[in-house]
Amino acid sequence: MGQLGILGGMSWESTASYYRLLNQGVRERLGGLHSASLLLHSVDFAAIAALQKRGDWDEAGRQLAVAAQGLAAAGAGALLLATNTMHKVAPAIEAAVDIPLLHIGDAVGQALRRQGVQRAGLLGTRFTLQEAFYRQRLAEHFAIEVLLPEAAAMAEIDRVIFAELCRGEFTAPSRAFYLECLERLRDDGAEAAILGCTEIGLLLEGARSPLPLLDSSEVHVAMGLEWLLAEA
Ligand code: GLU
Repeated sequence: MGQLGILGGMSWESTASYYRLLNQGVRERLGGLHSASLLLHSVDFAAIAALQKRGDWDEAGRQLAVAAQGLAAAGAGALLLATNTMHKVAPAIEAAVDIPLLHIGDAVGQALRRQGVQRAGLLGTRFTLQEAFYRQRLAEHFAIEVLLPEAAAMAEIDRVIFAELCRGEFTAPSRAFYLECLERLRDDGAEAAILGCTEIGLLLEGARSPLPLLDSSEVHVAMGLEWLLAEA
């Protein structure tokens, strides 16, 4: 088995899911006492969120690049950056190490293609929704047309992520609001919705969704598992 490095803590609520799902996946595939060989660098999310808020992506990229170098030096053969938003600085991380970064956008794009989805709604932070780095990758590499919620909904989706989900609060009103957003995206023509923030799956767990859901953290974990198990 290879050894996979995780850049996590953004937030730790979803990194904990990555840890559990990677280990479950290895146990399912290899059985017995097998578990995932992992290295985790878990950041203080308050510091990263402050950099996001003031738009200092260079410094955020620099900090994650240093963390990635630490994981590579410790023996990681590939990296998972366990957040959609911070893939905005994926190029800075990729430039700092010579091991592959398994990109969450590729995991999402490949899964949508496999399912034959061409128009997908997207839920996530305001950075993931409004900026080009995520949508462009889906459009250019996978020919996926991305539909966005309207501006006011986008702001509320973002508020809930930082004020609730990343603090471990999963409330019924926020679940109902996200489901309403999904209904609107369906009415606008989406064939499926991307949960493009790694905590949203925790909020919608067990909910009856009006659209098929593609959870970015699940497909990202699956990509990591494939890498782990393919390594001798
Ligand atoms: N985990 C979230 C994501 O997937 C949001 C936290 C962050 O801003 O990194 O985008």
